[in-house]
Amino acid sequence: MKDIIIIGSGIVGSSIARELSRYSVSVTVLEKGNDVSVGTTKANSGIVHGGFDAKSGSNKAKFNIAGNAMFDKLSEELQFPFIRNGSLVLCFDENQAEALESLYEKGIGNGVEGLEIISGEKVRELEPNISEKVHSALFAKTGGIVSPYEMNIAYAENAYNNGVEFQFLKEVIEIEKNEEIFSVKCSDGSVLQSKIVINCAGVFSDEINNLVCEEKLHIIPRKGDYILLDKVHGDLCTHTLFQLPTKMGKGVLVTPTTHGNILLGPTAVDVDSKISLSTKRNELDSIYESAQNTVPSISKRMIITAFSGIRAHSIGDDFVVGESKVKAFYNLAGIESPGLTSAPALAVHIANEISTKYELNKNEKFVATREAIPHFAVMDNAKRLECIAKNPLYGNIVCRCEMITEGEIVDSIKRPLGAKDLDGIKRRTRAGMGRCQAGFCTSRVMEILSRELEISMLEVTKSGVNSEMLLGRTK
Ligand SMILES: Cc1cc2nc3c(=O)[nH]c(=O)nc-3n(C[C@H](O)[C@H](O)[C@H](O)COP(=O)(O)OP(=O)(O)OC[C@H]3O[C@@H](n4cnc5c(N)ncnc54)[C@H](O)[C@@H]3O)c2cc1C
Repeated sequence: MKDIIIIGSGIVGSSIARELSRYSVSVTVLEKGNDVSVGTTKANSGIVHGGFDAKSGSNKAKFNIAGNAMFDKLSEELQFPFIRNGSLVLCFDENQAEALESLYEKGIGNGVEGLEIISGEKVRELEPNISEKVHSALFAKTGGIVSPYEMNIAYAENAYNNGVEFQFLKEVIEIEKNEEIFSVKCSDGSVLQSKIVINCAGVFSDEINNLVCEEKLHIIPRKGDYILLDKVHGDLCTHTLFQLPTKMGKGVLVTPTTHGNILLGPTAVDVDSKISLSTKRNELDSIYESAQNTVPSISKRMIITAFSGIRAHSIGDDFVVGESKVKAFYNLAGIESPGLTSAPALAVHIANEISTKYELNKNEKFVATREAIPHFAVMDNAKRLECIAKNPLYGNIVCRCEMITEGEIVDSIKRPLGAKDLDGIKRRTRAGMGRCQAGFCTSRVMEILSRELEISMLEVTKSGVNSEMLLGRTK
């Protein structure tokens, strides 16, 4: 029997797993996918929000502010890409100035440091490509950008290295509590037992809660579509450019990513499906038009791909955090934006609560740091030669757009919680994320996966079960 079962290995489950690994306690993460970061965490804006637009006094505001402050140290310890690039909320005419002022006041009330309203001229000094129509902006110096899936993977690897067990392809379908013990049943028939259960199931967190608790939760899936621009246009802006938020969310943004692309989006549409990630033409058109209001020189020729993510919007419009009425059953439900920003603080909060309540001892062997895969594309030539001398596979470029080497791809497969499919490699190395969107490197990456995992080419998948790339031999 385990002390703690965590359901879900998105950013919330993985960060809690890492914080709990600071204590002498046995933790298992059950994940229905075949990898970490396969849910909402893999597709979002990747913004580390300043915290000015969350409702005052809400969990969103509290954990956003606390989480934001943790990113500098965490990104160093866990070596994931993070840049504190600052954000601007743009006001396009005098009529919006009052709304901008209230956002500023709300931010000050929430405790956001370094907030400032600046003039249109000052905005254009900071961002020369921005619309002439911009009248003024709310400047949040503490805003940042992060690679969400790399942050998730880094947290999970560090948790694993500190003793947390991860079990994949384990979809939790039933939970029973007898006396003080939970029996957690998975769709493959296996049953695991634990004293504590932590529900981090993202858009499915209501369904997990409803298996156990009389007080039911209801999550509304709220889809957001995105457009990604080629890196060669990465100098369109350096700050994250928001428009004024709406009641559905933070509105359409134009932002650089940590890897130098420009991201446009998201939309916010309530949908029926929690799994369908198809993008819609009309939504993409609306993003494009809205983004052009911010940066008029954006053109359709710059686009390399579109994708979408699904927010876990709770009816109460706030994060549901903490122990439920069922003793030792913890919920982290309705963790929509700013959930990525808040995850580090949510994790520390839950780990503190559990360690205090159950008087857990410190794990004396806990190591806070984790080493990332060396990234050949950003090394200087001396470092590249050193890397190739250590491992000649770093001399073979596989993904030409992103300059990803065979060495990085093999490392991504061989690491703890290593990649098992094309998407896993993509999230760990960026192979396939460039202009050609894997047009050229897919077959090479498949060969490497087949060789390293000792599986046939017919068994190589894009993203786990039922996503085989090849149907059979033609010759
Ligand atoms: C469009 C969009 C934009 C966003 N932008 C931002 C942003 O810029 N900044 C920010 O801070 N936040 C942002 N967010 C919010 C952020 O992405 C989420 O808050 C965060 O990723 C949620 O993480 P999670 O771990 O709760 O969920 P997930 O990443 O979805 O992880 C949940 C995991 O649970 C697993 N699971 C589900 N059911 C079961 C089961 N029955 N058994 C086992 N496993 C199960 C899933 O497979 C999944 O891996 C955005 C979200 C969206 C959709």
